[in-house]
Amino acid sequence: MAHHHPHHAEAPPEGFADQAAHQRYRETFKVTVIGSVVDLALGVAKIVVGLIAHSQALIADGVHSLSDLGTDFIVLYAAKHAHREADAAHPYGHRRIETVATVILGTALIAVGIGIGWDAAYRLFNPDLLLQPTMLAIVVAAISVVSKEAIYHYTMHYAKKYRSKMLRANAWHSRTDAISSVVVIIGVAGTMAGLPYLDAIAAIIVAAMVAKIGWGLAWHAVQELIDTGLEQEQVDKIRQTILDVDGVKSMHMLRTRRMGGDALADVHIQVSPRISVSEGHHIGETVRKTLIDTFDEMADVTVHIDPEDDEATPPCEGLPLRGEVLQRLRDSWAGIPAAAHLENVSLHYLHGRIHLELFLPLHALDDPEHAQETTRALIAASKGLPEIGEVVVHYR
Ligand SMILES: [Zn+2]
Ligand SMILES: [Zn+2]
Repeated sequence: MAHHHPHHAEAPPEGFADQAAHQRYRETFKVTVIGSVVDLALGVAKIVVGLIAHSQALIADGVHSLSDLGTDFIVLYAAKHAHREADAAHPYGHRRIETVATVILGTALIAVGIGIGWDAAYRLFNPDLLLQPTMLAIVVAAISVVSKEAIYHYTMHYAKKYRSKMLRANAWHSRTDAISSVVVIIGVAGTMAGLPYLDAIAAIIVAAMVAKIGWGLAWHAVQELIDTGLEQEQVDKIRQTILDVDGVKSMHMLRTRRMGGDALADVHIQVSPRISVSEGHHIGETVRKTLIDTFDEMADVTVHIDPEDDEATPPCEGLPLRGEVLQRLRDSWAGIPAAAHLENVSLHYLHGRIHLELFLPLHALDDPEHAQETTRALIAASKGLPEIGEVVVHYR
């Protein structure tokens, strides 16, 4: 099949929001698969060599690598499903699948860490169970250090490219794996040098590292699930950016939260109370766009427009809507013939009252001299209603 438009963007594959989302998925997949292959090779090598060379610490490190393999699968699953576009049942998209996967990942690591630590501690209290490792264990641990450090740099490159917390967590995990293998080297070398407890102690340290990584991942993911706000410093920057938009007089109720690699915000901005609805909307849209353009991770902002400060109490709650207001006004205006010609009635809901702007064509008056009289009559009749505040009559 010939491609007649080689430069034309291809349609995104089914299930992807766009081409970029698909590429993000593909590269996350690639990075994770490479990490998994390395983990599988290292995990098997460390456990086999740990058994042959009698190093409990190296076995612990190997179990660590295999548990990473298991969690890599969760990451892959999350990468496959978390990118998906919003649908009717999931109006905010599917990014929190990644977050839930991270909770599972963290919990699994805590369990593995406790298991290994328990076993090593048991041997410490039963010294005849302590092992006497050999040089081979050090060689394998050294290979592990080098390859995990390489994986750290490789994964971090893509974590930065896609602002993926998941990949970032994976990258840091790889570096911790390298440190974990350094601890193994120290433990094995120490035991070989005549300190028999050192290998088991190294095993406990490695186990504690595994559990701590798990705790960190699970904790942050749970924070996201319960909608923890962004860091204070970031919130302050967002606040200032909003206030810098022309037309924003003040703001309140700024709320932020995270979803996968994205940040979301909603905010009330106070604008000049009598500008038009369209101007208020335009200011709100400008706030939205400015925040999304200024802050990399900001994916969406909901802006609520306030004509006055309603943070403590909504001052106009309970006031009637236009249809009912006009009904009551027409009743009050019954004795004023000019009122039948009103072209437009603007209602301003401010300070707990409805303020009126009435637009009357001059031809509605039998005599332009009567303007003042008619104005006074309209004001007096309107103010007879308790919910009506100021009244202004314009002639044109
Ligand atoms: Zn809008
Ligand atoms: Zn408000």
